[in-house]
Amino acid sequence: MCDFCGNPACTLTKQQVVERGAILESNAYGIMRLATEENPQTYSFKGVPAFYSLSALIPDEDEENPHAYIRFVFDEDEAVGECWEEREVENPLSWQTEQEFIERFEKGGQE
Ligand SMILES: [Zn+2]
Repeated sequence: MCDFCGNPACTLTKQQVVERGAILESNAYGIMRLATEENPQTYSFKGVPAFYSLSALIPDEDEENPHAYIRFVFDEDEAVGECWEEREVENPLSWQTEQEFIERFEKGGQE
C-alpha cells in the first residue's frame, strides 16, 4: 500500500522514479526551446495550443512522495519563463522518458 497515492496496488518508490528520470506525455510533439542556464528544454504537444511550452516532468527530489513531479512552464506569448508547476503522476513508470522521446525525435521517427 502506497502512503502517498492510497492505491493498495502501488509499489512505486522514490528510487525508481529518480533513476528513471524526467518523463513526458505521449502527445509530446516537438522541441520548443532548447535548455538554457535558467530553463530546462521545453516541448510542444499535439492538440495543445502552444501558448505555453512545457519541460518534461522532473521527479521532485525535495518531496518524499514518489508521485511528485515538477515541470517548467514557458510563456510563449510573452516569451518569458513563467514558473515551475507541481504535478502528481499516478503511474510514471508507464510514461515515456524524456530520453526516449529525444532519441525518437532525433531519428525523425515522429509520425
Ligand atoms: Zn503510490
